Amino acid sequence: MKNLSLKELNLGLSSKKFSSEELTRFFLNEIKTFNPKINAFITLDEEKSLQQARDADKRISQDNMNELTGIPIAQKDIFCAKGWKTTCGSKMLDNFYSPYDSKVIELFNQSGAVNLGKTNMDEFAMGSSNETSYYGKVRNPWNLDYVPGGSSGGSAAAVASGMAPAATATDTGGSIRQPASLCGLTGLKPTYGLVSRFGMIAFASSLDQAGPIAKSAEDCALMLKVMAAHDTRDSTSIKQNIPDYLKSLDNPIKGKTIGLPKEFFNDDLNQEVKIVLEQVIDSYQKMGVNFKEISLSNSHLSIPVYYVIAPAEASSNLSRYDGVKFGYRAKEFKDLEEMYLKTREQGFGEEVKRRILVGTYVLSAGYYDAYYLKAQKIRRLIADDFKNAFKECDLILAPSCPSTAFKIGDKTEDPVSMYMQDMYTISTNLAGLPAISSPAGFINKMPVGFQLIGNYFDEATILNFTHQYQRITDWHQKTPEAAV
Ligand code: GLN
Repeated sequence: MKNLSLKELNLGLSSKKFSSEELTRFFLNEIKTFNPKINAFITLDEEKSLQQARDADKRISQDNMNELTGIPIAQKDIFCAKGWKTTCGSKMLDNFYSPYDSKVIELFNQSGAVNLGKTNMDEFAMGSSNETSYYGKVRNPWNLDYVPGGSSGGSAAAVASGMAPAATATDTGGSIRQPASLCGLTGLKPTYGLVSRFGMIAFASSLDQAGPIAKSAEDCALMLKVMAAHDTRDSTSIKQNIPDYLKSLDNPIKGKTIGLPKEFFNDDLNQEVKIVLEQVIDSYQKMGVNFKEISLSNSHLSIPVYYVIAPAEASSNLSRYDGVKFGYRAKEFKDLEEMYLKTREQGFGEEVKRRILVGTYVLSAGYYDAYYLKAQKIRRLIADDFKNAFKECDLILAPSCPSTAFKIGDKTEDPVSMYMQDMYTISTNLAGLPAISSPAGFINKMPVGFQLIGNYFDEATILNFTHQYQRITDWHQKTPEAAV
């Protein structure tokens, strides 16, 4: 059952080769074996998972199943799930059991999928290495001394190690694609507004977007089919028809054009990553795809712009953690103000505090125009660059990350070098565009990915191109030794 695709698992279930209960028990066992060294899961609830599996088996016996019925899916601990402890990787929510389901969880439940457990993550999704979690760091299954990436590092490590067939994740600046790249997986960040943010704990609301981390483009297509839906409880959710992403996977790509941003393929690009990307380009050329140089002239400003806008929004979103209504509350205080102060001082980790400080600073009177307003203006220019680029090409190819995974502890003392991890991913969040990272090879035995960026709501084309690449390569089928 290990390393089967979602389609194969679906086939196994529908042909009664195995039941959902057997499948769920199998993965729970894998978790018992591998989680102690990888730390990808924060919360497990065997009884809840097995009950869902038995319910799924009932559905299957009544021939009332769809693609994910009975399949265990790991859920990033940013998604509220009724009755499940939902922490967002923070001490602040260590005692929080969600009274309701997020839209994403609701959709998985409706499809009959099994919630396999909640995955570890950087605290409040702030980070690129999964080292800021209150529940300890996650290790990369390809080499346990290395980070799995973040913030969805638990989800990525769970899938890469075979503890889960697929997982949910979220991406505010790169947190789906970067861990996917560092763990040899396929991760899709959809267009802003395609997947509902209802019940997804907010970091930076104008950037946050949920999506899948799985082994292949095909698996991502299956996951996205379930996750994408209009939701009146999210005011930025888009109402439009969701295409069947599976149907277009085999569309011909011959004669199509991929743009290469000259700002990404310059001397700053790591030589080894460049060689891998050239091989990817070669593969697509063999399939008859044309390449064209394009320009994203403001892309070098994405990191500074993001680190004004994201902390600004975070400082506002995180003001709700005050020890009054839910979550952590300091034990001793003399008055209300001290309760707030001590609660936030004790409940938040260092990186979260750094973001809150930066966010309140850039929003404060006197600095608002100089930082926040200016950042918003450049954000528009960054989006316009993409708009112009898509007049000339169908998709854009880019590196996913500046390098392969780094060693645990290597960047913890240097926040800015950590922030640079997202230099190739952040501009798409600022523009709200969809993008995928697909495995493309190895450098010194560590996986490396490439990124395909699409136009708004063109996930179908992204998945189609990625699937075609994965048909002629097998990087996405490699599995790490630590997982056997
Ligand atoms: N690494 C980025 C940050 O720390 C992005 C995180 C994310 O996408 N959630 O903000």
